[in-house]
Amino acid sequence: MSKSKSSESVKVVVRCRPMNEKERTAKFERVVSVDVKLGQIIVRNPKEASANELRKVFTFDSVYDWNSKQIDLYDETFRPLVESVLLGFNGTIFAYGQTGTGKTYTMEGVRNDPERRGVIPNSFEHIFTHISRSQNQQYLIRASYLEIYQEEIRDLLSKDQSRRLELRERPDTGVYVKDLSSFVTKSVREIEHVMNVGNQNRSVGATNMNEHSSRSHAIFVITVECSELGVDGENHIRVGKLNLVDLAGSERQTKTGAQGERLKEATKINLSLSALGNVISALVDGRSSHIPYRDSKLTRLLQDSLGGNARTVMVANIGPASYNVEETLTTLRYANRAKNIKNKPRINEDPKDALLREFQEEIARLKEQLQKRSGKKKKRSQRRRAGEGNDGEDLEGETEDDEDGDDKGDYWLEQHEKLERERKAIMEDHSLVAEEKVRLLKEKEKKMEDLKREKEAGEMLAAKVKAMESKLLVGGKNIVDHTNEQQRMLEQKRQEIAEQKRREREMQQQMENQDEETLELKETYSSLQQEVDIKTKKLKKLFAKMQAVKSEIEDLQAEHICNRQDLEQTQNELTRDLKLKHLIIENFIPLEEKNKIVNRAYFDEENEHWKTKPITRIEDDHQMMSRPLSAVGYQRPLAHHAHMAMMTKPWRYKAENILMLNMDMPTRTTKEYQEPVIAPKVAAALEDALRDEDDIQVDASGFYSSLGPTPPASASGSLKKPKTGRPRTGKKSSTPTSPFSPSSPGSPLYPQSRGLVPK
Ligand code: ADP
Ligand code: MG
Repeated sequence: MSKSKSSESVKVVVRCRPMNEKERTAKFERVVSVDVKLGQIIVRNPKEASANELRKVFTFDSVYDWNSKQIDLYDETFRPLVESVLLGFNGTIFAYGQTGTGKTYTMEGVRNDPERRGVIPNSFEHIFTHISRSQNQQYLIRASYLEIYQEEIRDLLSKDQSRRLELRERPDTGVYVKDLSSFVTKSVREIEHVMNVGNQNRSVGATNMNEHSSRSHAIFVITVECSELGVDGENHIRVGKLNLVDLAGSERQTKTGAQGERLKEATKINLSLSALGNVISALVDGRSSHIPYRDSKLTRLLQDSLGGNARTVMVANIGPASYNVEETLTTLRYANRAKNIKNKPRINEDPKDALLREFQEEIARLKEQLQKRSGKKKKRSQRRRAGEGNDGEDLEGETEDDEDGDDKGDYWLEQHEKLERERKAIMEDHSLVAEEKVRLLKEKEKKMEDLKREKEAGEMLAAKVKAMESKLLVGGKNIVDHTNEQQRMLEQKRQEIAEQKRREREMQQQMENQDEETLELKETYSSLQQEVDIKTKKLKKLFAKMQAVKSEIEDLQAEHICNRQDLEQTQNELTRDLKLKHLIIENFIPLEEKNKIVNRAYFDEENEHWKTKPITRIEDDHQMMSRPLSAVGYQRPLAHHAHMAMMTKPWRYKAENILMLNMDMPTRTTKEYQEPVIAPKVAAALEDALRDEDDIQVDASGFYSSLGPTPPASASGSLKKPKTGRPRTGKKSSTPTSPFSPSSPGSPLYPQSRGLVPK
């Protein structure tokens, strides 16, 4: 397989859409004119008076005006690219331009109208037609669909639309999207379905579809793998990848007044697009050795398409109306720069990650398994026919591909019948003992089960092989088809015409250039007047050229100033935001906490995020992570403290790891005893009662006389109480006052004070 190693430029085409209804009714002036023959776009600046002299001219590979048809674009510009993808090159088509200028129209077009179908559906048709016409080739077509919005990648074909995907890089295959789903498709209908599902998912979750689509990049990826027998007798696989990119609107996003989240959003929205511009500038510049691919997801993902291994076409879409002139000029300048990018496309032959190879190997493996199975069967049946004693080994070679379905069916049936017969024979055999019979029957039943299972497994394997093979597409079926042949001729003719046009354009462009040069070469003049005339003409031409260049410089400077102001404004706002964060950190987060966080933080280069390391370092601290082991003989793990306590203290913790806690005292519900407050009346009475008993006079003579001749001398004291009696406290009453107390000293008539209250 020949490999093209030469470099080639990115092909840039410009398409101008027609005036829309609104522009027509508002009677906007048309400032863009398109010279299809010369491949030039001419833009007049409506603001300047001498507009005609200061028109700006841009030359491209080809240009398309408002009357251009989708199929023309496809045949002239995109068909050769898709054709080379089918040969194993990588290809990329970008649609660039302001929102509403026809990027989506160019890429997708009007879905149900074959006339207005865009590049994507046209390429489907192209690819599958190509396959159907191919011969001795095997194809595998896969499709993926993703979207980049605010620097986040979403898989438009995945069930979980909230998931964000990451970019990864491998030295052998380069940058890829991790976990991106891709669907193997077998027909135009299937791949269209994939596109429709993706488009539906694109609008899901978008509050405003127009705004969302104008701010996100959509990338449809078709991978074409083709296997063909090479001259060396080996199968070779070529893999071509086609990226179809509908970029976000290129208009400047207004950031005025944006703060916080909104500001972040605004700065992220066009990051990929400005990074794309920077990459293009760096590539074209030639002086810069560093190409900032890593600045955005888009440029990283499409790295190969810009200065790498790919063929690239950029379609710059513009609007014709006067109010868009600034954006139109910006787009044209952007496109003009992209013309100078040099790519180095080559055929991707036998890459390691070719899915087709995996498929082929898997099919071969399954087929081998299937064959082994049928081999066993055949061997068995052969052996059966030949008698048990026959050696089966030399029969193995007979198990070839010629084994067909009928044969298999017969085999299963035969086996089944045989087992059934044997079972019956056992049942009817009366010479066997009942137990033996049951055992043999069971054995036979088991054999039947096995047979059934084996049959099922074989069928499953065959189905799997069939399913996998059906995914691989082979052409050459309808090659004899008459209409097909005619169609092919037509396509070929169209392609020839497109090629013709291209050559014409190139020649015309060359002639223009030569015209200028010949002017200089005409050095011999017949007369002075002629010399003056020619030189004046030359001067005029050069003057006009100089004016154009001057105004271009001015424009560029103005644009740069605008860009710089924009960046400065963003920077100011970000600085202000940062200051607020600082204020919060300085005042509300303790210094040591801050330091801890700072020490843990690290920058993840892969995902371009700051992250914090986990607090527990698993490698260092095994004890933290693993469950402590039980001490021998104990059912539960023991804490270190309990372990130590077990050794020192005699009984505590002997069997358990019990926590040691201080006794938790309940709250008190009683009060201290307080003496009752005594009323003054009672106090007086008490006072009275506690007076010295000597002061009390009791006449007890009458009492004794009534008692008899020998009265006991001390009896009357206790019987006659003073009128104001003491309060009867238990203590006092419990102490019986005996009139005959022998202990009472002093007067024999009056008892002594009992001494309860000290004097
Ligand atoms: P973008 O994707 O760039 O924002 P669209 O593709 O959605 O713009 O185009 C905006 C409108 O202009 C659509 O209604 C589309 O049909 C129309 N349009 C764009 N280009 C053309 C064209 N070349 N011919 C006819 N209609 C067009
Ligand atoms: Mg769009």
